Amino acid sequence: MEAVPFLDLKSINDKYETGIEDSIKRVLDSGWYLLGKEVERFEAEFSRYIGVDHTVGVANGLDALRIILRAFMEMGEMDEGNEIIVPANTYIASILAITDNNLTPILVEPDTNTYNIDPVLIEKHITEKTRGIMIVHLYGQNAYTEKIGELCKKYDLKLIEDAAQAHGAYYNEKRVGSLGDAAGFSFYPGKNLGALGDAGAICTDNNQLAEVCRTFGNYGSQKKYHNKYQGYNSRLDEIQAAVLRVKLKGLDEDNQRRREIANYYLNNIRHPSIILPKSSVENNHVWHLFVLRVSDRKSFINHLEKYGIETLIHYPIPPNKQEGYPELHKYNLPITEKIHDEVVSLPISPVMSNNEVKSVVEAIKSYDI
Ligand SMILES: *Cc1c(COP(=O)(O)O)cnc(C)c1O
Repeated sequence: MEAVPFLDLKSINDKYETGIEDSIKRVLDSGWYLLGKEVERFEAEFSRYIGVDHTVGVANGLDALRIILRAFMEMGEMDEGNEIIVPANTYIASILAITDNNLTPILVEPDTNTYNIDPVLIEKHITEKTRGIMIVHLYGQNAYTEKIGELCKKYDLKLIEDAAQAHGAYYNEKRVGSLGDAAGFSFYPGKNLGALGDAGAICTDNNQLAEVCRTFGNYGSQKKYHNKYQGYNSRLDEIQAAVLRVKLKGLDEDNQRRREIANYYLNNIRHPSIILPKSSVENNHVWHLFVLRVSDRKSFINHLEKYGIETLIHYPIPPNKQEGYPELHKYNLPITEKIHDEVVSLPISPVMSNNEVKSVVEAIKSYDI
């Protein structure tokens, strides 16, 4: 058995080392570091990959989501005080994107099988003030369902995808990121497609939305020194775009390796106190995280630690229990809270060796609670 780190970013990027070095040199030599050819090319390549008309590079995933919402507000599609439905168990960034725009997040419990928003529970949370649904493809698994699409049509709601954990995943034949009105991606180093620092992107087929987002992320300015909006400075760097272009070419292969590892875990971990994650064929999971549930989490983590197996918790505290969100403390969310008490993420990455994967399974076999 060998010790297994949770995520070895250095090894992940070693695979791309030559390509990354060449691309950084190219940017250095060009003397052009922002809003140039690398970003333009990456945007075109990512649009083709996801299957959308437009990609707009931004500084990070949170900005992608908050600029999408802000653009809808500038376009008159939503207003301060309007409500956005969002899964209660998401990462805090989805909620921040909503509250930063003075919109109100309406937390909806997830399905206990997929950990994605439970489509059956959405309709009863729709009010006169609802303007959108933000689905989150949590842990790498698609969250879109026909039912969600129908609700958006029926109530004239915008569908926003938080695709920060699901680069390359599919819902049937369509990639995640092309399923709603707009999607936000993060290229934080640890994501399935990761930069060497912060980076993000917005994907959409809506021409006007793409233009407003692009303008908004560049100080609200289309023409230099003319400010159409009170915008942000949120741009994707040329260096990061150049690196992402190299890594995008290997994304499908990297995701395939993640699927192999996940399948090995699913086929070989059998334990009465462990609940394994579930996925379906139409949701082509990309396993950003392999999250299982175990009632005595602390003893499980300690047991694995003894074998040098590193685990993490995604996430220990749900948004409605966060100190920074007193307005969400009123929520009573038994499913979300139970999930947050029980989840543990096992190591998974495209560079894990078969021996490492086996070591994780062997260590779990000897856990006897
Ligand atoms: C990582 C992440 C984000 C935010 O991305 P950053 O690039 O870190 O701003 C948003 N939503 C989810 C679900 C994420 O996992």
